[in-house]
Amino acid sequence: MSSLKLTDIKGVGEKRARLFNKLGVNDVDALLYYYPRDYLDLSSPCSPADAPFGEPCAVKAEVITPPVEHRIRKGMTVYKFTTAGDGTALRITLFNQKYAAAKIHTGQTYIFYGVVGGNMFNREMSSPEIITADSACIRPIYHACEGLPSSVIESAIKNALDLADGTEDPIPDYLISKYHLLPLKSALKNIHFPSSMELLSTARRRLMFQELLLLQCGIFCMKSENKRTQKSDITDYSADFEKLIPYSLTGAQKKSIAESVSDMMSDTPMNRLLQGDVGSGKTAVAASLCYTAVRSGYQAAFMAPTEILAEQHYNSLCKLFANTDIQIGLLTGSTPKKASVIKQIENGELDLVIGTHALIEDRITFNKLKLIITDEQHRFGVEQRSRLIAKGDCPNILVMSATPIPRTLALMIYGDLDISVLDELPPGRLPVITRHVKSEAKPKVYDFIKSQIDTGRQAYIVCPLVESNESVLTPATEYCDHLSKTIFGNYRLGLLHGKMSSAQKETVMREFSKGSIDILVSTTVIEVGVDVPNASVILIENAERFGLSQLHQLRGRVGRGKHKSYCIMVSDVQNEISLGRINEMCSTNDGFKIAEYDLKSRGPGDFFGHRQHGLPPLKLTDFMTDFKAVAFSQEVAKQICTDDPQLEREEHQSLKRAVIKMFDAAGGVLN
Ligand code: ADP
Ligand code: MG
Repeated sequence: MSSLKLTDIKGVGEKRARLFNKLGVNDVDALLYYYPRDYLDLSSPCSPADAPFGEPCAVKAEVITPPVEHRIRKGMTVYKFTTAGDGTALRITLFNQKYAAAKIHTGQTYIFYGVVGGNMFNREMSSPEIITADSACIRPIYHACEGLPSSVIESAIKNALDLADGTEDPIPDYLISKYHLLPLKSALKNIHFPSSMELLSTARRRLMFQELLLLQCGIFCMKSENKRTQKSDITDYSADFEKLIPYSLTGAQKKSIAESVSDMMSDTPMNRLLQGDVGSGKTAVAASLCYTAVRSGYQAAFMAPTEILAEQHYNSLCKLFANTDIQIGLLTGSTPKKASVIKQIENGELDLVIGTHALIEDRITFNKLKLIITDEQHRFGVEQRSRLIAKGDCPNILVMSATPIPRTLALMIYGDLDISVLDELPPGRLPVITRHVKSEAKPKVYDFIKSQIDTGRQAYIVCPLVESNESVLTPATEYCDHLSKTIFGNYRLGLLHGKMSSAQKETVMREFSKGSIDILVSTTVIEVGVDVPNASVILIENAERFGLSQLHQLRGRVGRGKHKSYCIMVSDVQNEISLGRINEMCSTNDGFKIAEYDLKSRGPGDFFGHRQHGLPPLKLTDFMTDFKAVAFSQEVAKQICTDDPQLEREEHQSLKRAVIKMFDAAGGVLN
């Protein structure tokens, strides 16, 4: 593995190295993988006569007259000279480029890249890029920063490539020959300095395959830890479960339950992702599986990310199972008589335990844990989930997610996790009416909120940050104060923001849940899972500041009961991207459609926020268009990891090192 320092590169000293660090480039290896953002194709220049007017192009011409210096005013010197090709002249002007002018030799042919101006009889070009004709090529263009222009990055990479003999290829030799891949060194050379557009695309394809392969192998390695097999003695009780509930399951719920139960009855434990939009009824699916596990003689655990959510699940499951002899327990940080609950978990008196992170504490031992369900999966790291897995004996896992992920991406992230989708809402759900308004309409909106509260409903007001005058941003606290002293003077307001302790947050949420707060003013902390069916309107201020999936999650806080509900987004933005997001929200309530749109316009990194998901950023892959490459790399990764699950073989060592490096850089958590 190349451990060369940036300063080992010719032309890179401490100062430049620090600038490279700013771009996220910390060693020679990283520099080699700092791909161009675009290319300048100087490989097929045209003659002056054929050059189009008014758009950038490369023109090949011979210098006829030497550059002549003109001092036009103090500090401004121009150099002018004439070139020609195929009998047509092109006048070149350079501004203050003494150095470039000195390198121009009469009688030599160059390529001039720039915009041709003037007219048919008098063609001219100002400040072109100039290269000698024999080095006609495709030039890389890099994301640059102050003090580090693209051309400097270019020459650093050129020099780094000379040093890069030690760069190790993560793709094993047998795959290189099997799939006729370009060797790493040649791929890197050609992605930076392609000698033709064809070679560029071959190099790109190889490097894209490489990044996808690393990602997929990483995912497979992590998942392979839970692949032991064991004879299953689970019996399917889902038909009995249906008799317990007051409604009939949707087709999608039935299908998801059947898929999961069949996993549980097989000899390999279930490892499944249940995806469903807000309100699609994931809890009923979870409950059915718990019922099957418990009736088969086992324990089940249901983990939620917050105390409120755990309590919510506890209450709804207690109701569902009221007429059965299933013993249900709740374990959170603030559970009274914790010790006795823990004892009941240990001796098996409790069949079903619902809880928070408290469930994974070391002192908790289960009696015969066979099913683990985690809700709102993105809040839990792999590590936390695997600690819970370790408390059972080959337990079945169901991960529930309310953030719809397009199938392409789900495949990508969850690797060998099976996926069930609830793509159908329970009947009778009213879509949330969604509107975009300008801030001048706010008084009317406030009146509307009052009228909703006056008929017994509750409301959310979401403000990321509020502009009190031109550019000063006031925090949520002040905004809430302001509202409670003015417009909503006669109503009960509660405040929720990120700087509060979780105990404080839970208290406020509980008050809102009970109905003793009319309006909950908050930053985005209400995003996940909270269920207050009486809330019928959500007002989102500065809607342009939110991501699309965030907006959709926020909207999901209303429309959870029988009341007609509203989502009102306030925004004065003009910019197309923000308006596009807001319009998308107004045009559909379908979380999957929204996720597709979001992914298309932003790419997967922003889509999740790397930090939260630990998905390493990919530089070359476009998830929406490179689907074939994704599927192919997954196939290859699967073969590798089936034969060598922990990448222990000699020929996989460089692959393994690269996988570890990739995931370490992303924070090492994969979800
Ligand atoms: P989510 O998928 O967001 O977790 P929930 O499980 O909280 O959704 O379900 C939302 C609401 O829909 C709950 O009040 C639940 O009782 C109800 N529900 C679930 N399934 C059905 C169904 N098949 N028919 C009618 N109502 C249902
Ligand atoms: Mg839920």
